[in-house]
Formats: sequence, C-alpha cells, structure tokens
Amino acid sequence: MGFSTDAIHAGQEPDPTTGAVTVPIYQTSTYVQQGLGKHKGFEYARTQNPTRIALEKNVAVLEKGTDGLAFGSGMAAITTITQLLKSGDHVIASNNMYGGTYRLFERVVRPYGLDFTYVDTSCLNLVEAAFRPSTKMVFIETPTNPSMIVSDLRKLAELAHSKGALLTVDNTFMTPYFQRPIELGAHLVVHSATKYLNGHSDMVGGVIVSNDAAASERLRFLQNAAGAVPGPFDCWLVLRGIKTLAVRMDRHESNARAIAAWLSKHKKLERVLYPGLPDHPGRALHESQASGYGGMIAFDVGSIEKGAAVLPRTKVFSLAESLGGVESLISHPATMTHASVPREEREKVGLTDGLIRISVGIEDLDDLLRDLDHALSIL
Ligand SMILES: *Cc1c(COP(=O)(O)O)cnc(C)c1O
Repeated sequence: MGFSTDAIHAGQEPDPTTGAVTVPIYQTSTYVQQGLGKHKGFEYARTQNPTRIALEKNVAVLEKGTDGLAFGSGMAAITTITQLLKSGDHVIASNNMYGGTYRLFERVVRPYGLDFTYVDTSCLNLVEAAFRPSTKMVFIETPTNPSMIVSDLRKLAELAHSKGALLTVDNTFMTPYFQRPIELGAHLVVHSATKYLNGHSDMVGGVIVSNDAAASERLRFLQNAAGAVPGPFDCWLVLRGIKTLAVRMDRHESNARAIAAWLSKHKKLERVLYPGLPDHPGRALHESQASGYGGMIAFDVGSIEKGAAVLPRTKVFSLAESLGGVESLISHPATMTHASVPREEREKVGLTDGLIRISVGIEDLDDLLRDLDHALSIL
C-alpha cells in the first residue's frame, strides 16, 4: 500500500464488537478474565491496550520496522532506549541533538555508569574514531535540531553494523513520510509523537519503531516493566493526527520552502539553515536519503538582543517551544529548547545566541510571509 493508505488504515481494522470505523478509546485499566489464565489477550492496561496497539502497529508499518512501541513522551521513549544498555556501555551521539536528549544522557543516564561521546556525525571518520570495544549504540538526528546538519544514514548504519552496535535515529523532524531510516539500515527509530505525528499540539507522546528482534523483545519487556506508557486518549489523538500526516507534511514543506527562499534573500540575516536551500552543505546527501526537506528553518539575526526584539513582533507565529503542529511557532533555541546545553557546546555546532528557529505551520503562505516581514523589519 502507499503511504497515505497505510497512514489511514494500517493497524486499524474496524472494531470487532460494533464495526466502529475509528479505533475506540479503550479507557480501561483492566480486563475481565473468564477463569484462571483464561482471557482475551488483555490483562492489565500497562501491558496491553487496544488503542495503543493500533497506534504501535500503524507507526511500525509507516517506518517499515517490525515492531512499534508507544510511550508517554518522546523522552520516555528515549529513556527506554537507554535502558537497553548497561553500566560500562558507550554511546556515540550527535553533538547537536534535541537539548532534552543531551540532558537525559548527561544528567540522568551517565551517573548510572554509561559513557557518551558527542561528535559531528556528518563526519564519518569522527564517528569511526569514536568507537571503542564497549560502544553499543550510535544515536543520531538528521537533519539535526536546529543546525540542520545532515548525517549519512546508510554509511552510519553500515558502520554501526560492522561494529556490533545499534544505530538509533530520532526521526521526529522528518517523519516517515519524508525519511525512513530503517529502510536505509537503522535498527531503531524514535519519535516525539508530540510533534508532526500528532501534528495538532494537543498531547505529549513518544514512539519507538524497531527492526531488530532482540531489541524489540527487550523494549517490549521494558515498556511494561519500567512502565512509561501513554494513555489511550493520547494514543487515539496520535492515530487521528497520522491520518493526515501526508497532506500536512506536503503543506508544511511547500510553505517552508517558500519561506526559506524568502529569508535567504533578506538583507539583514546572517545565515538561513534549511536543507532545501541550494547552498546547504548537506543538501545532496539529504536528497539521497529523504524525499523532502520538512518544515523546520533556523536563521541568525546576529545577537540575542536582536532576537529579543524580533520574537515578540510576530502575530501568526506564536512564541513557543515545540514544533510540528498545524500552527506556526517561533522560538529561540539558546534560551528555550537548548538552554540545558552548555554555551561552548552550543557554539561548536553553530547554535549561536542570535539563532531563531521556526516551525512552519500549514496556514496561508502570504500571512506567514507578511508576519515575518513585519517582525524582521525591526532589524
Ligand atoms: C520534542 C523532541 C523530543 C522530546 O520529545 P517529548 O515528546 O517532548 O518528550 C525528542 N527529540 C526531538 C527531535 C524533539 O523535537
């Protein structure tokens, strides 16, 4: 089936009891059993919930993996991935990831005896040099957030494979509509479902898709044993969001391409970062592994003072953290999403104090351009 057909139907057979076309919200904590050890496959809702299972099957199909697992947030999903590892294990990670992932690795997981090395994963030789006998995972985002650095999924998968490590890709920015890392060799894909998958900024959730049998089995155990599960209503909201993922992503992207082109001609901006711009250093590589550029753009207004002047001037773009919803958002990574990353780490990856990030929504393009034009006119 094609992507849109799968998005609407995969894992979502009509309800066997009533024929309801839409998967019901099974708002229950437990299930009646017919006798000792006799039940319909459902015992307790941390372990199994039909609404959650529908979401898990759906995302597994879209990401072309064998198993999907849903969690209460993107961070809960990433935490569960780190629980695949043990004290003494080593992870190589992108030096320009979502700030919360860096915070989790450094301030929650490292004290348990795991070690992390952060490298520019767009340089394969740096990744290769960072391997140790204890390296069990390579964890990347591509394009990264918000510097838009592109890493080679096929080559990183091959390298991780040859060293007996798992390649995990945070695919939140691209979604499976534009990029399917498992098809290129990755073992695990993780999402903040809060973002494009849900797409309507009305819940927080996470998803892992696995294509590695041993990891799948352990993750399923951890999902139940550690218990970072989502509620059924939130799963239903993501399922509902995914039905329109393809049309939303097309519109996010066509708006973003036009806005990036317009920003790149703006005289007062120092840099515009968007993988679809002709001068973007990772553009050709990105095009070889993804079918679109997405809806995220970053640009540099030069200083924190200028940023502070521009940010409150937008009316259609709301000043807020998060991304991937139908509405356009504007944010300042250095003080918002990436405040937990030390300044010298931020500057290494071009995450300067003047950098502004926008999540381009699906409103009318003219309104978005007018809004940005007005905001930037103060520069
Ligand atoms: C938001 C985000 C996360 C964290 O997800 P939550 O749902 O907020 O816990 C992880 N990775 C990326 C790329 C994100 O944008």
